[in-house]
Amino acid sequence: MRCEWCGGEFAATGGPGRPARYCRRSHRQRAYEARRLATERGIGPDEVLLSRATWERLRDALYRLEAVSEDVAMDVAGSHVTKPDYVEALSYLSAAVADLKSVAIEPIAVGNE
Ligand SMILES: [Zn+2]
Repeated sequence: MRCEWCGGEFAATGGPGRPARYCRRSHRQRAYEARRLATERGIGPDEVLLSRATWERLRDALYRLEAVSEDVAMDVAGSHVTKPDYVEALSYLSAAVADLKSVAIEPIAVGNE
């Protein structure tokens, strides 16, 4: 299962009651607070409020990934591409992916569905 707050995977426990939606109690609490804040601020069901810093890190990492993927596609498009070229391209792409994965996306408020 995936936690509805952090998106991380966790093992579902087969106990009685509703199935768990969060990997830990603190994430259930943060999700509750984010929904409550969304209601207070009039944030709709299809809206999420992020900090400017989070939004900028995410935007910049996505931009870098896009630019790197275009560069890599061009680098390996030719007919004289060697194995070291592929290795270098993959390394370059992996670094951009790692950069994106490092962005912690923690919303301030999440609209109620
Ligand atoms: Zn979680």
